[in-house]
Amino acid sequence: MKIAFIGLGNMGGGMAANLVKAGHDVAAFDLSAEALARAVAAGCSAAASAAAAVAGVDAVVTMLPVGKHVAGVYAGEVFGAAPAAALLLDCSTIDVATAKAVAADAGAKGFAMVDAPVSGGIAAANGGTLTFMVGGAAEAFARAEPILKAMGKVVIHAGDAGAGQAAKICNNMLLGASMVATAEAFVLAQKLGLDAQTFFDISSKASGQCWSMTSYCPVPGPVPTAPSNRNYEGGFAAALMLKDLKLAVEAAQGVGASVPMGAQAEALYQMFAGLGGAGKDFSAVIKMLDGSWAAA
Ligand code: NAD
Repeated sequence: MKIAFIGLGNMGGGMAANLVKAGHDVAAFDLSAEALARAVAAGCSAAASAAAAVAGVDAVVTMLPVGKHVAGVYAGEVFGAAPAAALLLDCSTIDVATAKAVAADAGAKGFAMVDAPVSGGIAAANGGTLTFMVGGAAEAFARAEPILKAMGKVVIHAGDAGAGQAAKICNNMLLGASMVATAEAFVLAQKLGLDAQTFFDISSKASGQCWSMTSYCPVPGPVPTAPSNRNYEGGFAAALMLKDLKLAVEAAQGVGASVPMGAQAEALYQMFAGLGGAGKDFSAVIKMLDGSWAAA
């Protein structure tokens, strides 16, 4: 299949490489010459523009930073240059309103489109083990599934246009709030004289158990693979968690949903980013809560 891939950054680079490995002919474009050169080294062909990349393709995949980039690339380049039979897949994490608007525009121009944001970080993008949450019509999902399977291990149809983005931000709002709550519990436990490992052994088998504790413990020791054991490097950056929390709170305001825990998590990650923590793994928020961040 001939596929255009636009946005070859931290995530898109590995995803495009996996499409090549699956035997697809991938035409790549990125505003960054460095990102494009990496894609070419992985077997993609370089296009001079997004419009040039999408000419004559069967499918277009985008992996861009935020909604305005996605809206700009589709309206400015893709819609005017891609064949109407091409399937459009946006894998970026963007706001639900923009995802729905771009999909509606695509539909009006005769294109089938899905929003297919991912769960899993750079390692999963490189390893082809991402989870895709897909929004769009059933026929579009059926066409998207084999393409997404070349880049991930789990592909789930979440519902109509925008439903993939909705699933992604609801999940990450839960994750952000549960990480803050887990971190608070460890800080309090230690201040009350409990050893962190002992508290983990108890709570991971009791009703406080959650993924933030058992798979991603913010205290070093109990979960050896967690970023807390690597000075909070190389995981899911607090800046990206903050982005997703902002999207969730904004979406909640749009539909009148009450999300006080999500809003509080957003405020705490905003504060942590302001203290210089944006580049650290999001579990490092425990350092702000226990007062040791300055020394981290
Ligand atoms: P990134 O900034 O590394 O990559 C984005 C790429 O898009 C850059 O190379 C940039 O040059 C390119 N770009 C921007 N505007 C463009 C345009 N108009 N035309 C062509 N290229 C353009 O970002 P990333 O980490 O790869 O993340 C991409 C998306 O995936 C984001 O929406 C992010 O929230 C989401 N995401 C990231 C992670 C992660 O761990 N990094 C995890 C899950 C989801």
